[in-house]
Amino acid sequence: MKKMFRWAVGGLLILSLLAPVSIPAAAAEKAQTTENSQTVDASAGQSTRKKKKTIFIAAGHQERGISSRERLAPGSSATKAKLTSGTSGVSTGIPEYKTNLAIAKATRKALRKAGYKVIMLRTTNKCPLSNQQRTRKANKSGANLHICIHCNAGSSRAKGPLVIVPASSRYVGKKIYNKSCRLGSSLISAVAKSTGKKANATIRSNYYTTINWAEIPTVILECGFMSNASEDRQLNSASYQKKIAKGIVKGVNKYFKNR
Ligand SMILES: [Zn+2]
Repeated sequence: MKKMFRWAVGGLLILSLLAPVSIPAAAAEKAQTTENSQTVDASAGQSTRKKKKTIFIAAGHQERGISSRERLAPGSSATKAKLTSGTSGVSTGIPEYKTNLAIAKATRKALRKAGYKVIMLRTTNKCPLSNQQRTRKANKSGANLHICIHCNAGSSRAKGPLVIVPASSRYVGKKIYNKSCRLGSSLISAVAKSTGKKANATIRSNYYTTINWAEIPTVILECGFMSNASEDRQLNSASYQKKIAKGIVKGVNKYFKNR
């Protein structure tokens, strides 16, 4: 089982490395700590003693992919499709972009409750921006962290969360590389715990446009596998989405505590 598992994840990585253009199904595809006692809810419009941390939450994909190409990374001549269409649930038939948005909204709610400010990339399923444009938006947003929410596809037995972080400082620089890795590690352990699943091995890759253009700490969080019937149903249930959101908040708390 373990072996199959590794195979599934490894296979996914290899697939994404080998098939630059479209990786449709395979896919790649978080208060200030709870110093809440010192933080007044911003919704009340009051001043805060400590500036709230801002989290940019990007629900992956949208209603359709964009097949034209864009540069994979700053300073690179390699190109990649602007946006892939994502996977869909083997049991529910729900397209990934809808599941990602539902998880992103649950995460926004949980982060706000924990005292963070949240900026959403999208709140509807229409967001015809390329991966590079999405990351540029996050970079300019003033957010402290950029978390991309996705769901995965692999074997029918694959399950559990996975994070993708830069493989090196090549495109993002040393500071963002280090911080993204630390964010990835905080998130994956917290989400695995909150969902009761085993974390998959972290994917370290310089082949994700979303990560390569990052100027703030950025990770891709694959919340689970929609190719696994039972996990697909979980990923599309409000109760499991809340568990993921809770894990993301804990991971973000840990990231800021460890700074
Ligand atoms: Zn995806």
